[in-house]
Formats: sequence, C-alpha cells, structure tokens
Amino acid sequence: MNYLSQQNPADFHGKRVILRLDLNVPLNDAGHVDSTDADRIMKSLPTLKWLADAGAKTIVISHIGRDPKETLRPVARYMESVTTIGFDPELSGERLNEMIANMGNGHALLLENLRSNSGEESNDEAFAKSIADLGDIYVNDAFAVSHRAHASVVGIPKLLPHFAGLQMEQEIEHLSKSFSPSSPSILVLGGAKFETKLPVIQKFLGIVDHIVIGGALANNFYKAMGYDVGSSLIDETANVSGLLGNPKIIIPETVIVENEKGKEEKKVSDVARGDKIVDIAPSGLDLHADLFKNAAFVLWNGPMGNYENGFVDGSKKIVELIADSQAESIVGGGDSVALVEELDMSEKFGFLSTGGGAMLEYLAQGTLPGIEALR
Ligand code: ADP
Ligand code: MG
Repeated sequence: MNYLSQQNPADFHGKRVILRLDLNVPLNDAGHVDSTDADRIMKSLPTLKWLADAGAKTIVISHIGRDPKETLRPVARYMESVTTIGFDPELSGERLNEMIANMGNGHALLLENLRSNSGEESNDEAFAKSIADLGDIYVNDAFAVSHRAHASVVGIPKLLPHFAGLQMEQEIEHLSKSFSPSSPSILVLGGAKFETKLPVIQKFLGIVDHIVIGGALANNFYKAMGYDVGSSLIDETANVSGLLGNPKIIIPETVIVENEKGKEEKKVSDVARGDKIVDIAPSGLDLHADLFKNAAFVLWNGPMGNYENGFVDGSKKIVELIADSQAESIVGGGDSVALVEELDMSEKFGFLSTGGGAMLEYLAQGTLPGIEALR
C-alpha cells in the first residue's frame, strides 16, 4: 500500500493533489451541518493538514446525498470554521482551471458534488480523466466509499500517482487486525441488512472464537430455531439454518418485546403473536459477561436493537461489557457509530470505523476496490 504518511512531504510541494474525502454528512432542517454530525469532516482534517504543511495545492472531491442536485456548499461553509478551504461550485470549466492555476501552495479548494455528473457512479473514463487532469497526484482518504467502484474511487487512481490518506491508513491498520485477532476473540453482529452481514458471519466463523448475534439478525435465527417471532422484523430472503447449532454462534435468548401492553422482557420461547422483538435484554447478555471479560479482541457491528425508537439497552450493555474487559475493541457501521456517539461512549473503544457498508465488505473480502486501486 502506498501510504501518504510514508512519503516525503517535499515531493508534494507545489503539487496539485486531488483528495477524495467522504464529506457526505447529514444537513439539518436549516440546511447546515451540525457539529454533532461532522465526524467525517473532522476525521479528514489530519490529511488536509499533512498536505497543507507539505505545501500542496489540495483539490478536494466528495459526493453528498442521493440527489445529484445536492450541493456541498453547506459542507464547505462548515469546513471554513475548522480549516482553511475555498469552494467552487463546479467540476470543470475555464473558471475552475483559472482558480486552480491561481491557488497558493498549502491551499485547499472543495469542488461540487461528484454525483452531479453521472460519470461518477458509472465510472466513466472521460469523467475520471477530466478530474485527473486537474491534478498531479491522487490521494484517497474516503474509506467509507471505497467499496464503490466509482470514478473518484477507482477511475482517477489509474491516471495519477496514488496514495492512501491518513484516515484510510488507520482504517486498514485497525480493521486488518480482525483477520488474525488475539484470542479469545468475539465478533458481535447486530442490526438489519442481512445480506451484508451473512458473508461476514461465514468468513469469521473461521477466524474468531465466538460470534454473538443480536438485533434484527437474531430474529432470523429465532425463527429458524422454530420460535414464534410475532411481528418482529425479519429478512425473508436469508436462510440461516446451516448456521444453527454451530458452537461458535451465541444467540441470547432473552429479548425485549413491544406489544399492546407496552414493553416487556421475555424468554424468546415465550414470544407470541402480538409481540415484536425490538432489543436483546441486557440480562440475556449478562450470561455471557465472562466471555467478554476474558476477551482479548472484540469487533462490533450493528445495534442490538431498534435504537432509533429508544431500544438502546442491549447495545448499551454490549458497550459496558466491552468497557469492563481489557479487550482491544473496534466498532463500525453507520448506525452503530451513531448509537455509540449518542450514548457518549465512543471513548470506550479502541477504534471507531467510519465505514458502514465499506467496513462489512472489507471484513468479508479482505480488501475493497478503492484499496486495490491504491496498490
Ligand atoms: P449499521 O449501520 O451499524 O451497519 P444496520 O444498518 O445493519 O447497522 O442496522 C441498523 C438498523 O437495525 C437500525 O435501523 C436498527 O433500528 C435496526 N434494528 C436492530 N435491531 C432491530 C430489531 N430487533 N427490530 C427492528 N430493527 C432493528
Ligand atoms: Mg445502517
């Protein structure tokens, strides 16, 4: 891997560096970035600083939102409050060329939403070239989008000398430890989106000592075990019967259900028609406290419950179990990290990954298209 941190800054002096960041942050009702949602922006500052200190002219590229009409202008405005950066609402043209030609060494300029051009998502060669032509060097510091074979992720690095930024390096350093973890090791998997998690379960059965399943994923197991899961969220397309009875897989059997009486703790064997399983009961996780206490490595993705609706106790318990152990710990996933931050417990973890889908794909495949493009 070509890590930026291992390069000589002098080689970047006066060079135009195309820097791919993940600045896809939510905007509030007023259309601004809230500081509580600015994590991705803050994590990109070390690479921006490295390049500024080296005297590079940094041309930042990113996407935002799903609508191609969305603009990065509010992100630029927020970034102005934490670093020095300009904004140009274009991706090409005479005016942009002129702006770049007039950039001083150490300066940074953010361009408009990459996805305003359909060539970004289709990895169009001409589009990749039009961006590559703006610079001399390419740096990818956007781990969370590196599972997408888009022009800014895999197209541009084909055309320019390429390097992994500082956050990307952190992600690779920490997450790659999952492939040969210190023992005893635990993978905790929750959340929904079964199709993204099943390949991770399959791969990690050969790697870790225990896999603890919670969240809506557990509902699939309960159903396969023959229990009535009432109106619980379930992924009808996922078949987990081949995993039943595997001694590495631990499925807590005390849950929190929501029903006409409100909220109740139940043995999963008592769950009935009118119940909806919404969380793993902390008491059910207590049974596995020793497992966590003795663990040397814990990797966690996916909330234990429907946390947006207040069912956070199972996830909170997982954080406490991890905090009480000496284990090296990693948490990742869009919702998981949002939840951990909401609980104000991020300092309990050794590493928080910025990747959601990217983290899961990296764990399942051992690499990503955007990482391969940097070799
Ligand atoms: P991440 O973004 O961390 O990878 P996922 O996107 O896979 O996690 O899953 C998070 C979602 O799973 C959240 O919306 C959460 O409410 C939901 N979830 C977890 N457990 C349950 C449950 N028992 N019932 C309904 N939804 C659940
Ligand atoms: Mg999610």
